[in-house]
Parts: sequence; C-alpha cells; structure tokens
Amino acid sequence: MNPVTSTSTLEICPSDHAASPEERAKRMTNPRFGQVFTDHMVVIPYKEGQGWGRGVLKAYGPIEMSPASSVLHYGQAIFEGFKAYKQKDGSIASFRPEANAQRLNKSAARLAMPELPEARFLEATRALITQDQAWVPGAVGESLYMRPLMIGTEPALGVHASSEYLFILMASPSGAYFSGGVKPVTVWISDDYVRAAPGGTGFAKCAGNYAASLVAQRQAKGEGCDQVVWLDAIHREYIEEMGGMNIFFVYQEKGETVVVTPELTGTLLPGITRDSLLQLARELGFRSEERKISVAEWKAAVAEGRMTEAFACGTAAVITPVGHVKSRQGEWLVNNGETGPVAAKLREALLNLQHGLAPDSHGWMKTI
Ligand code: PMP
Repeated sequence: MNPVTSTSTLEICPSDHAASPEERAKRMTNPRFGQVFTDHMVVIPYKEGQGWGRGVLKAYGPIEMSPASSVLHYGQAIFEGFKAYKQKDGSIASFRPEANAQRLNKSAARLAMPELPEARFLEATRALITQDQAWVPGAVGESLYMRPLMIGTEPALGVHASSEYLFILMASPSGAYFSGGVKPVTVWISDDYVRAAPGGTGFAKCAGNYAASLVAQRQAKGEGCDQVVWLDAIHREYIEEMGGMNIFFVYQEKGETVVVTPELTGTLLPGITRDSLLQLARELGFRSEERKISVAEWKAAVAEGRMTEAFACGTAAVITPVGHVKSRQGEWLVNNGETGPVAAKLREALLNLQHGLAPDSHGWMKTI
C-alpha cells in the first residue's frame, strides 16, 4: 500500500477526530447497507470557466451550501456505487471502478453536468480507500461500498444548468443489502408506475429516477414484496429492470442453459454487474442473450418448465434470486421459491473474483 501524499489535484487533510479502533470495530459490527460511514470523504469543486479545482480529502461530515443551490430545486444530482474488497493476500482492490467513472460521465452528459476526468475519479477512490483502509471488512460478501456523488451548487433559482458543482466521494462498510441475507426475494411487477421512457433519463444514474421510484417501492411493500419490477413505458409489457438491480432469467433449451437479460434500450441502467455476469456466464459454459422478455413469456416459461431461475444483480445486492413474482395478472413461483444452481454458481464466481479467490483474467480488480 502506498503512503498517501498530497498531489496537485488532491490535498490530503486527515481528520483529527477519526474513530478509535474500538469505536470503529463497534460501528463495523453488522453494518448492514449504507448506514455507517468512514472517517473521511473527498470533495472536488467545479466552477464554469475554471473547470475542476483541487480536491480535498478531509473528515467526513456535513457540507454547507446555499438553500438556493440548484440541486435542491431542479435535481441536478447523479451518483455511482461500487465496492472495494479485502483480498486473500490482505491487500484491497476495487471492482471495475473505471466503469463507474465512465457511467458517471454518461449520466453527467445527460443531466448537462460537467464530466469528471476518469483519472480524478480514480485518484479520489485510491486516496479514500487508502486513508480509510481499516474500514474495509474482511469476510466474503462484505465490502467497503463507495458512493460518488455529483451535485449542482450554484445559488440561483433560474432554471438552467448549474455553473457550480461538487463531486463528493464517501465510503460505507457494508454487509448484506437485503436484511434477510441471501434468500430469494418476492417482486411486484409495477403496472401503475413507469420508471423511464424513451428519450428520458433511464440509462443515467440520477437522483430523480430514484425519487420517482419510491412510491412504487412502497406499493410493492404493501403487496408483501421486497422489490419492484419495472416494465417498458410504451407497451407496458416488457421487463426492464428492478428498483436498484438488473434482472436475469435462466432457461433450459435443448439441454443447454441459457442466461437471458433484457437488452439495453436506453431506459434501463447498464449495470456493471450485469455486464460482468454476461461475460462470466459465457466462461462458465452458459449461453447468454440480451433481448426483450415480456411478463407473459416469464409466466408461461416458468409454467412450461423452460425457465428454471430468475435473479437480480447489482453492486449492492450482488446476485439475489427472485423466488416469487406478484402482479395484477396473477402470481407465480420461480424454482419453487428456492435459490437455483445457476444463480448460486454465478454468485460464487463473482464473489471469488472480487475477493481475489479466483484468477482475475479480465483485469477487473484494481488494487489500491
Ligand atoms: N439498475 C438500477 C436502477 C440500479 O440503481 C443499479 C445499481 N447501480 C443497477 C441496475 C445495477 O447496476 P450495477 O451492477 O452497476 O450496480
């Protein structure tokens, strides 16, 4: 691990009230997801005409901004999520952070926000993980969740793209995303609400997409479900993705296992886990397909025994089987509500890679 030193683009100002080892150990016990934050954060300011200024790594804490800040009124807010893992040899590595840097910039372009050079994103990542390395949990399935955020901060009420921004990187030790651990979830297919329409912001990781999804998530909970499944806006027929995860279906076709996920239409988030699993599935000997799949097909394929599994995937939840599907058109079980062998195999392959327990033939792990 390299010692941290300030650079021309990042000043390192360690906190003088970092948690003691005892306090840290206490806060890292059963941290669940996104509730505990490390000692530090990175903040990089942007001003139109000047570009990105020198960033600072400093104590994690509140940020001050004007109540007129544009993000609070017009929602210029984008974010990312990726993880750093303790490796078998004790080092720490993050999973495909450059893919997150690139997706952040695609979101930025859609929201008329400035792109952050990938090198600055990676420098911030390296610095924060190095500084807060004691906060990286060690067990398989646990990790340090990294949350990059970009917001418009110009204090002005006219509706226009902000001329000032902050990029903020925070880190949160995390255990299981679903409080019940890895057990199949029950999903609600949303008929009443649409997440994203063609030409909209579905492919971007912007805050507004999530704000608009909460009422549907609440409805899903009310129906006894863990998560929403979104349908396409035009036909209200094709499956797009879930609340914070992409979705895969496993078919058995003429003795062959086929792993299918909805194609990227511009209205769903191009998940980095999704992309990784498409590659891993092929390496494990499964055929993979990206195509449209309708609710009717889902129901029929399960009933006919052609579809043997469905599972959700994402950074936070890794792979979570979908055991029970509910909708206004009826409900059905997938694989009798149990975890299937393909989901289990892919999950193990991904976790082994992320924790350095399997060779990283893709160069996905970036050691700090
Ligand atoms: N879809 C949505 C809506 C999400 O919020 C996420 C989480 N980022 C995903 C899919 C999965 O993406 P990833 O695998 O990059 O975490």
